Amino acid sequence: MMSAIRAAALVALAHAATPVPAVQAQAAGRWVLQLGGGVTGTLRGELRLTDDRGRLGGTIWLENGGEPVALSGEARDQTIVFRAAADGPLQFNATLAGDVLRGEARPDSGPARRWTATRLDPTREYYPVLPRFTIRQIIAGRGDTLLRLPGAWVAVARATVPVTKYQEAYAAAARPSGLAPLTGAALSGGASLRAMGVFRRAELRAAVGATLDSIAAQIPDRRVAAAFTRLFRPRGTWIIDMHDMALLRGQLQLRSASYASAAPALVAIGWLTADSASGADAVALALYRFHALSASDSAAAAALRQRMRALAPPAYGAVSALLTGYAEGAAWYAEAMRFLLTEPWIGGAPAGRSLHDLVREASPHDSVALPQVRTQAFGYPQAVPRYGVPRAVFARLARADNWPAREWLRRHGASRLLEVVRALTLDFVAPATLDAGGETLRLSSVRRQAETSTNGFLEPRDAIVVDPAYVPLLALGAVVHEWQHLIVEQRRMSALAGGDTAMVTLPAADPFIAEGIAEWRAERIMAPLSDRFPLLGLGEPEKRARLAATRPDDQHLLGYAMIRALRDAVPDDARFDALLFAALNDPAAAAADPAVGRAWARHAGSDHVVAAPSRRLLVPETTFTVEDGFPDLLGMRILAPR
Ligand SMILES: [Zn+2]
Repeated sequence: MMSAIRAAALVALAHAATPVPAVQAQAAGRWVLQLGGGVTGTLRGELRLTDDRGRLGGTIWLENGGEPVALSGEARDQTIVFRAAADGPLQFNATLAGDVLRGEARPDSGPARRWTATRLDPTREYYPVLPRFTIRQIIAGRGDTLLRLPGAWVAVARATVPVTKYQEAYAAAARPSGLAPLTGAALSGGASLRAMGVFRRAELRAAVGATLDSIAAQIPDRRVAAAFTRLFRPRGTWIIDMHDMALLRGQLQLRSASYASAAPALVAIGWLTADSASGADAVALALYRFHALSASDSAAAAALRQRMRALAPPAYGAVSALLTGYAEGAAWYAEAMRFLLTEPWIGGAPAGRSLHDLVREASPHDSVALPQVRTQAFGYPQAVPRYGVPRAVFARLARADNWPAREWLRRHGASRLLEVVRALTLDFVAPATLDAGGETLRLSSVRRQAETSTNGFLEPRDAIVVDPAYVPLLALGAVVHEWQHLIVEQRRMSALAGGDTAMVTLPAADPFIAEGIAEWRAERIMAPLSDRFPLLGLGEPEKRARLAATRPDDQHLLGYAMIRALRDAVPDDARFDALLFAALNDPAAAAADPAVGRAWARHAGSDHVVAAPSRRLLVPETTFTVEDGFPDLLGMRILAPR
C-alpha cells in the first residue's frame, strides 16, 4: 500500500508550481449547506473546506448521511470544484460572494442540483442531524422484605462494642471539647438544636471560638491563615456559624437589625410566642426556618412576609434584613465548608495538610476527588451523599446512537448528558408498577428518582448536601462520613459485573455494612484531628450515644460494631478491604471466610433478621435526541426483568 504521507507529498509537489487562486483560501472554513433537488428534497448539512497547499480538501456531512465524508477538489479561476460521495456521487462547483457559496452539484447522470452555503463560526456547535442517545433500562435497589445479617457476626459485634460503651465514649469525647455532654431528653432533642446553633448558644460560642483560636494558631501557611481569618473572623470576632454570618450581613443592610427588633414580626404571624420571643435562640431558629421555607415554598413565604409587613412594619424591616443575611449566610457556609475540606490548614508533621489529604491517605486504592459541596435547608443537622455515576457504569448505561451523539459526548462529557437525562419526563400514571415473574417493581424515571430520593439518582457528579445551619466545626465529622459513602459506592458500583448489555442492574448495598464502613472509616480519618481539636470529634460519638439510648440496633450503631469486629478478626489490610466490599453486596460472604469463621466459632447463632420491605425500581430504556441542551423523547421500552 502506498503510504498516505507519500501520496500527499506527491500531490503537494504537483501543485507547488501553480499559484493558488485566492478563492480557495477564502473558501476555507466551515459552512452550513443546503442541497436542493434529489429524491428527499432539500438536505441540510455541514461543509468543511480546507486549503491544503493548493488542494481543496475537507468533509461534507448531510443530514441523511451517518458521518462526514471526505471531499477533494481545487479552485479554477473564481470557482471552486470538488467531488464527494455525499447524496450519491456528486461534483460540486460554486462561486463565492461575501460569506455565501452558491453553485450546482452534478450527479453522474440526471439534472444538476442547486446548492448554497453560508459561513459558520468554526467554534459553534452545529449538527445537521441531532445527536441521538439511548439510556439503557435500569433496575435498581433491593427487592426483598427482610435484611439478613449472619448471627455470629452480630453476636461478636455486640460483644466487641456493648451499647453502654457509646455513652462512655461520648462522655470522654465531650470532656475536653468545651461542651457538656447531654443526657436524657436534652440528648434526644437538644443535641440536634445545639448542632444547629440554637441551644445553649453561649456555651457553644465559647467552645467553637476556642477551637477556632487553636486552629488559627497552628495554620502553617500565611496565605491559608489569611483566608481562614477572612472567612471566620472578618470583623474581629469569630463567626461560629450561619446565624452569626446572617446577623453580620443583615446589619450591613439595616444597622439596627437584631433578634430583639425582629421578634415582634414573628410573634405577629404566630411563629413565636410572646414568651419565647425574648430568647435569641428561639428567634434565630424561627428566622432560619423562615429561610428554609423561602426555598421550599416561596409562595407561602411571600404571603407571610406580607402579613408581617402589615402587622408589624418596623420589626418586618429587621426580619427582611436578617433574611437577606441568612441567604448570604448559606453561601458563606458552602465556602467555609470547602475551605475546611480542601485548604491545607492542618499543622503538625507533615505540616500543611488538608482534610482532603487525610481522606485520600485513608483510601490509597481509590481516586478520591473532592465532591461538590452544596447547601440545602433540611431543618435539622443533616448531611447526605448524592451518588455520581462512576465512569464504568456510565459506559454501560449510555449509548451514543449516531455520529453526532459521539461528537456531542466528546464536547460536553458524561456529566452533561446525565444532566440532560434528568430533564426527560416519562409519563406514567404514578405510582405505576410492573408485575414480573413474582416480583413487583416500581416504574420510575431518572428525573422522578432524582427529585424524590434523599441520595439523588444517577447524579451528574458526586456531591454532599449539608444543612447550612449545621455548625461547620460540628458538621465536619458528618461530612467526612458522607464522603466515605461516596468513595465506597464509587468502587462498589464500578466493580459490579456488567454481563447483561440490554439493561443495567444496580443492586443496593447492605445498609448496615455501608453505614458501618462510613462510621468506622470517618472515625479513623478524624482521629488525629479530634486529638488536637476535641470539638471536631464530638459530633459522631454524640450521634451514637443518642442512637444507643433510643435505637440500639440502628444501622450506624450495629454496622459500626460489626466492622470493628471484622477488623479484629482480620488484621491484614488487603484481606479486610476485600471482605468489606464482599460484605456490602452480601454480608454472609464475609462471615463465610474461613479465618473469620474460626475467629467467630464460639458465637455461631441464627441470622439476625430485620424487616425492611423494599421494592426494586425499573427505569425504562429511553431513546432521545438532544437539541440546545434539551432532550426530546423518541421512544421508551420496557424489557422483561431477569
Ligand atoms: Zn451514613
